[in-house]
Amino acid sequence: MVDAYVVRKRGYFGQFGGQYVPETLMPALHELEAAYDEAKVDPAFQEELESYYRHYGGRPTPLYFARRLTDHIGGAQIYLKREDLCHGGAHKFNNVMGQALLARRMGKKRLIAETGAGQHGVATAMVGAVLGLPVEVYMGAADIQRQSLNVFRMRLLGATVHRVEQGSQTLKDAINEALRDWVTNVENTYYLLGSVVGPHPYPTIVRDFQSVIGREIRQQSLQRNGRLPDLLVACVGGGSNAMGTFATFLDEERVELLGAEAGGRGAGPGEHSASLTWGRVGVLHGARSYVLQDADGQVLDTHSISAGLDYPGVGPQLSALKDTKRASFVAVTDEQALEGFHALATYEGILPALEPAHAVFVAMQRAREMRRDEVIVITISGRGDKDMATVADAIGVKL
Ligand SMILES: *Cc1c(COP(=O)(O)O)cnc(C)c1O
Repeated sequence: MVDAYVVRKRGYFGQFGGQYVPETLMPALHELEAAYDEAKVDPAFQEELESYYRHYGGRPTPLYFARRLTDHIGGAQIYLKREDLCHGGAHKFNNVMGQALLARRMGKKRLIAETGAGQHGVATAMVGAVLGLPVEVYMGAADIQRQSLNVFRMRLLGATVHRVEQGSQTLKDAINEALRDWVTNVENTYYLLGSVVGPHPYPTIVRDFQSVIGREIRQQSLQRNGRLPDLLVACVGGGSNAMGTFATFLDEERVELLGAEAGGRGAGPGEHSASLTWGRVGVLHGARSYVLQDADGQVLDTHSISAGLDYPGVGPQLSALKDTKRASFVAVTDEQALEGFHALATYEGILPALEPAHAVFVAMQRAREMRRDEVIVITISGRGDKDMATVADAIGVKL
């Protein structure tokens, strides 16, 4: 009983988190937690991860002073944490690399993953290839149709893509099928989850692997400016790049933490994906958190111009940071995100993904109100190549 209590408390951030899963999944989650607790404190594991980060992933990524954007705004100094320069073009690499090494250490012979827009599937396929682990990705039939290029990428990287025909044929159905596979094949299979969501211990594991972002920001800021930034801004889908940016700074009360959610077309139900701004506390995908749901607790449809933010839930630790007010969150509309996108393109020669373009917009707003000796760091979670068709469509250009 005492052990059960300890495990339970460890899986919570305030009232959020936990393990709301079928009994059949508990042994797999316990095995994962035990393996991760060991790996975390094993210098050999950390060295191996560090080596892949450096030699394969392109870490450390630069902390770049956006001089022209800063001059244009005329307020606080704006720095960019360039996760868009990670291998694969996004911060997702940090997490999939860590979990794939953990899977190998656990003696698992295959990786499975769920994917919505396909970005996490591609990232998992990538690390499966480099470690020689077969990858099977579950993806809704509707998503497969919408994201054919990512399906092609996964196949080129040697992964098998399973078409999920159940339900709405999107991400939540893909998650159900991946969980079914995991329960059946837990002996030889590792389930590689894509964000700081899901049942304990996933939100902790993914946060820890992504926290390399914030550790580097700290080190690079101290080296460059001799002090920490005043404000950190990151976009929030499930919340992994935001938690990765914030984690190191949670005890530094002077460093303000700000998350940019997908405000879509506005506050109406189905028009956005802003779970922290407009959601209510509920249970989704194995954890208690803020969830977009109707009065009966049915999960609502979501919308965002950026596929990576288009999710009705959010990580439990971010939910706790909202309630304690250690971090704050704003909803940024599709149109405002496009404004952020154009600003970075024209002032800095960087085409960001539409997800971090949300963060760029709020950072620009805040920079205007801040002093010139203050410092903002925006995490640019990924590059924009994947979004060219969406941007062209949004501004009425025919490619
Ligand atoms: C997947 C993705 C996101 C959203 O995921 P988080 O877990 O919220 O970080 C944000 N930006 C990019 C570039 C992505 O690929």
